[in-house]
Amino acid sequence: MIGMKLDLEGLPIAGVSRGGLETCLEVKRWSLAFDLGRCQRSTVGCARILFTHTHMDHMGAVALHLARRALLGLDPPTYIVPAVNRAAFEALLEAWRELDGSDLPCRVLSVDAGESLPLGKGLVARVFASDHRAPCLGYHIFSQREKLDPRYHEASSEELARLRRSGQVITHRVRTSELAFCGDTRFDVIKTERHLRQARRLILECTFLDERVSVERAREMGHVHLDEIAAHAELFREVGALLLTHVSARYGPAEARELVHRKLPPWLAQRTQVFLPD
Ligand SMILES: [Zn+2]
Repeated sequence: MIGMKLDLEGLPIAGVSRGGLETCLEVKRWSLAFDLGRCQRSTVGCARILFTHTHMDHMGAVALHLARRALLGLDPPTYIVPAVNRAAFEALLEAWRELDGSDLPCRVLSVDAGESLPLGKGLVARVFASDHRAPCLGYHIFSQREKLDPRYHEASSEELARLRRSGQVITHRVRTSELAFCGDTRFDVIKTERHLRQARRLILECTFLDERVSVERAREMGHVHLDEIAAHAELFREVGALLLTHVSARYGPAEARELVHRKLPPWLAQRTQVFLPD
């Protein structure tokens, strides 16, 4: 599969994503990537990987990523993994160290649904549970800043300085949605995780697109079917931009785009892109 890049409402996203084969989406602006099903040249530069789950098409390239960064003398990467998989992940790295005869230095952090993960530069990821056939986490990244409380809007700068010195809290934290990545999931995550419906940019897997695989079968395998998005389009009214990933290799890029544009209502199709090369 060819790696690709696109612009998702002002945010460049690069990588690869095909269901069952390989998924790795890079967000260079934030020096991170979601999952590591393949390690392209550009992926080596991503110092942080947020793993959603441990299926091979999402994690299989971790050893190459680690080794290439070490070879180039780059800082040890940080791998963020679901807490439930941490021990097995550490054991995997240990096995590679022994096989490769090298240190392969890295930092491993584990996260669980409900936690907040600080990402620096005023960004924080809210970790949520997706609904796959294996434990899977999603990440909703927010930018946050301090905003003056409305009750102090009329106050002079001298007055504000005095209040601050006296220890008075005069600001509150405002969080703005930047990007949500769901990993592999059934459609139900859109129903259970209401914040996703207000995501500025939503990356959702859509593995199956037509009757070659039924909605029922897609659900059994823990994936989204395009017919479910079409049937529940109203849930996406407040989503800024939708990016569909993880499309099964049985659909060619042009065919996938045609199906998405035909099945979704025009207002939703307009703000939807499919992560496949032209
Ligand atoms: Zn997958």
